Amino acid sequence: MNRIKHLENWLNWQNNIQPLFVPEAVREHIEYLFKDIVPSTSRHSEGTLKTGKIEIIDLDTLYLSLANCQKCRLGVTRNKLVFGEGNKNADLMFIGEGPGHDEDLTGRPFVGKAGALLTKIIENGLKIPRKSVYIANIVKCRPPANRDPLPDEAESCIDYLHKQIEMINPSVIVLLGKVAAKHLLNIECSITKARENSYNYKGIPVFVTYHPSALLRNEKYKRPVWEDMKKVMKLLRIN
Ligand code: URA
Repeated sequence: MNRIKHLENWLNWQNNIQPLFVPEAVREHIEYLFKDIVPSTSRHSEGTLKTGKIEIIDLDTLYLSLANCQKCRLGVTRNKLVFGEGNKNADLMFIGEGPGHDEDLTGRPFVGKAGALLTKIIENGLKIPRKSVYIANIVKCRPPANRDPLPDEAESCIDYLHKQIEMINPSVIVLLGKVAAKHLLNIECSITKARENSYNYKGIPVFVTYHPSALLRNEKYKRPVWEDMKKVMKLLRIN
């Protein structure tokens, strides 16, 4: 990583903890240094660089910029923020609702029981390595007692997901469960109903399927999930 990148990451990180006060003269130097990489670094009337003013240009920088996020109440109760993981150039992206107990402790998405099942779906069903896809969630911090994220919590977090999708630019997105469908597609209905339609997110085909924890509770969802995965495989020309 070059020096300017280090400086940019550090600035983003600091700025996220508390908006930086940057004196006029220093800001001019920063803007000069960043002028080729970050053309949109913009001025703020009180002489501060606010969160988001430095353009986030890759996933690592995005992660650093929110590593200490306290935008909503989930920031207070979390152990670890779960940013997402996988191939930064993945063709396929899975999106769940939010971290559970195991994810909160490890900082990794889908590593508990539901995660083990998702891994099985990817590796035994799609027959591709888990690390070849990207896995993220609607909210990055665990809602207490695994409740659904509240609307304001999802709202404060969703832009990070939009940015992740933009940077990864997958060919197909799979939404796992109602919460993911609600917050990414603005649809509020059962998964059974949602599966009847086709969707896209900014031109990217999106499949809505049952959350792995629903499968753990009820085996009857296995067949429809497999049908959805076959559609994903066809679209991605896997196997
Ligand atoms: N359930 C989710 O929706 N996401 C996770 O990361 C784990 C369980």
